[in-house]
Amino acid sequence: MRRILILFLDGVGLGLNDAATNPFVAANTPNLSMLMSGQKLVSEQCAFSENNFSFVPADACMGVAGIPQSATGQATIMTGVNVPAYIGKHWGPKPSVEIRALVRRDNILQQMRSNNYTVRLANAYPPSFLKQLQSGRRSPSSIQFAFETVGTRLCNIEDLRGGRALAADFTGEGLRSHFGFEDIPILSLNEAGKRLALLAQESDLLLFDCWQTDVVGHRGTMGVAINTVERLDAAIGGILAGWCEADGLIVITSDHGNLEDKTTRRHTCNKVPVLLFGDGHSSVAANINDLSDIAPALISYLE
Ligand SMILES: [Zn+2]
Repeated sequence: MRRILILFLDGVGLGLNDAATNPFVAANTPNLSMLMSGQKLVSEQCAFSENNFSFVPADACMGVAGIPQSATGQATIMTGVNVPAYIGKHWGPKPSVEIRALVRRDNILQQMRSNNYTVRLANAYPPSFLKQLQSGRRSPSSIQFAFETVGTRLCNIEDLRGGRALAADFTGEGLRSHFGFEDIPILSLNEAGKRLALLAQESDLLLFDCWQTDVVGHRGTMGVAINTVERLDAAIGGILAGWCEADGLIVITSDHGNLEDKTTRRHTCNKVPVLLFGDGHSSVAANINDLSDIAPALISYLE
C-alpha cells in the first residue's frame, strides 16, 4: 500500500560529530541508531540505502545566501519549489503574502487531493491556538497553511481525547501543565509513536509537525536538547514498532538546522537529514538532493 507518514521535525540539521555540542551525538538514541545501522546523524555521514531504510542529507540553503528559515523551508517541502530562490531570501518563521501565494498555487497536498488521495495533519491544537488562528491574531506556519489550502480542519483537544490526533509533545503532558487540561490522557512516547503509525493507516498522507525541536534549539540548554532528542527517539521507536514495510513509507525530515548545534541559538546552514523507512525508500532517496526534491519524489512514489 502506498501510504506516506511524514514526521516533520522543525529545526533539525546534521551537525558535528561532537558530543559536547551536538545533542544527537550525546543522546542515547537506540531507535535512530538501529535505523542508521549504527551510523550517526552527523554532517560527515554520506547518503546510504540498505534493507528497508535510506538516509540522505538534504541541502536547506538551496543556493540562497543567509540562514535558512521555517516559512521558506516548509513551503519548499510542501511545494517542491525552491521558495528561497523564488523570493530571493530565506524567510520565517511565518509565511509572507508572497510565500502564501506560492503555497496556495500548488502543493503536494493539492496534487494528492486532485488524485483522490486523502491527507491529514495529525497535530491536536489547544483551543486558544485555534481561536487565535481563526481570528487572524496568529498566522499559520507554511505547513498549516498548505493544509488550509485543501480545506483540512485542524484537530483539537476532542480529537486528541478520541485518539484521532497527537499532542505536539507526543505525550500530552504539556497540555496538562501549560494549558490546564487535567483530563488529557497521557500517552507514553512509545504509545504516541504507535498511535501515529496507526493513524497513518487511515489516510494516504499523514503529517505530524514536531516544532519543539526548533524551540529547544533556540532556547534550551544542552541538557534539555539531549532530553528532547531522546524523547524523539522513543517516539520514533513507537512508530517503527507499529509499522511494517508494506504499510508504506515513513519520511522524517526538517526545514533547517538548529538543534544539532548548541554553540548557537540561531538556525544553522547545515544540511538536514531525510530518513526514509519502508516501501519505496531507496527510489525516493535517489531523487533527493535538497528540500525542493522531497515533494516531487513523494508524488512519483505515489504514482
Ligand atoms: Zn526557528
